[in-house]
Amino acid sequence: MGGCHSYTGTRKADTSTKRVQFSEVTGHKLKNNNTQAVPSLEEKPYLLQGYVSERIADMDVKTLSVLPDGLDKAEWMASNTIAFFKNINLFSSALSDFCTTRTCPTTRGPGDVTYCWTDEQGKKVKCSAPLYADYTMSYIQELLTDEEVFPTSASTAFPRGYVFLVQRIFLYLFRTLAHLYWVHFWDVVQMDMHPHLNTLFAHFVTFGREFHLLERSETAPLEDLIAALCWHHRF
Ligand SMILES: [Zn+2]
Repeated sequence: MGGCHSYTGTRKADTSTKRVQFSEVTGHKLKNNNTQAVPSLEEKPYLLQGYVSERIADMDVKTLSVLPDGLDKAEWMASNTIAFFKNINLFSSALSDFCTTRTCPTTRGPGDVTYCWTDEQGKKVKCSAPLYADYTMSYIQELLTDEEVFPTSASTAFPRGYVFLVQRIFLYLFRTLAHLYWVHFWDVVQMDMHPHLNTLFAHFVTFGREFHLLERSETAPLEDLIAALCWHHRF
């Protein structure tokens, strides 16, 4: 399967851009010089121009996402879903020292929403972010290695309900990224991983929208980030 893109390659750290001062921000979000904008950016450091404009390469995420001529759509979705899972899992693991039961006793996302895990009985349960990440990654891993859902043999058809399952995977992967942006963005910056995270997130959202895998209601709390990335990276 193709579609494996890595966002964890080496990149020279430019520490001079770290901890951009809010007073220095001249991003498009501040064009109106609205006094409400600065507190908003303090809450959302990922919108600061010095960070949101960073990426690892001049990648055209739209072109990377669209179905190439001659490829099977379900197969293309499968190979990209596996690649996104691997990369997002890697980011999540890299930040595990910062995301603990003490720092994150619940799983918070943008707008301070609390994500609940839905257990096998369909009951919503609040849990710590590391536990939520464990549930998420185990659930997805199980699906991806289930031959009946993601067949590796060309002679086996993808099952009915396949797109719904891919949508579920995208929902959980989106929440994983949303938690990182909302709670751990300074940790991401400290590790100089924000250019990679921006690139991964831009590609992930673009792909999700291309194949209708992400609900607008779910992505709404990060719509400002998506718009800013779109503006800076022209996708
Ligand atoms: Zn956390």
